[in-house]
Amino acid sequence: MQIFKQAYSFLLKEIIFGHLLTLKYMFKKKYTLNYPYEKGPISPRFRGEHALRRYPSGEERCIACKLCEAVCPAQAITIEAENLNNDGIRRTTKYDIDMMKCIYCGLCQEACPVDAIVESPNFEFSTETRQELYYNKEKLLANGDRYEYALQKNIKADAEYR
Ligand code: SF4
Ligand code: SF4
Repeated sequence: MQIFKQAYSFLLKEIIFGHLLTLKYMFKKKYTLNYPYEKGPISPRFRGEHALRRYPSGEERCIACKLCEAVCPAQAITIEAENLNNDGIRRTTKYDIDMMKCIYCGLCQEACPVDAIVESPNFEFSTETRQELYYNKEKLLANGDRYEYALQKNIKADAEYR
């Protein structure tokens, strides 16, 4: 038996089988993606980077009710609000999210009565410093403007299950 084992290793049987296996899969359908140039589909319920949305008129949706701040289990949201504006609507003067505390549970999004705070489909927001992950209102509103089209599509796709 020992002699057969030695003969096998001399003939490099494993290497030949390995190459044959590679050859077999070379012409089959590929299951890998050339990320980041190709990306896989994402669920409409995917909970990614946060965004604050506006109405089509450009008006902020958020009415500073602070429900999202109250419901956040990680206490990642900090809101300060002013008394009524000239238009009679309460607005935030500060809306911060500490993305390092956030656990992406989506409860802020669920609690919001006006669909203002949402989690966008963007998952590519890694940074080099911790400070960059401390989002303020300007950053969140800019995210809302950037992802509004995708957000609207996702909200529509998920509407019948809400
Ligand atoms: S996703 Fe969850 S943890 Fe993150 S800010 Fe919203 S409520 Fe807080
Ligand atoms: S984002 Fe929504 S839940 Fe949070 S304060 Fe604004 S309106 Fe209220």
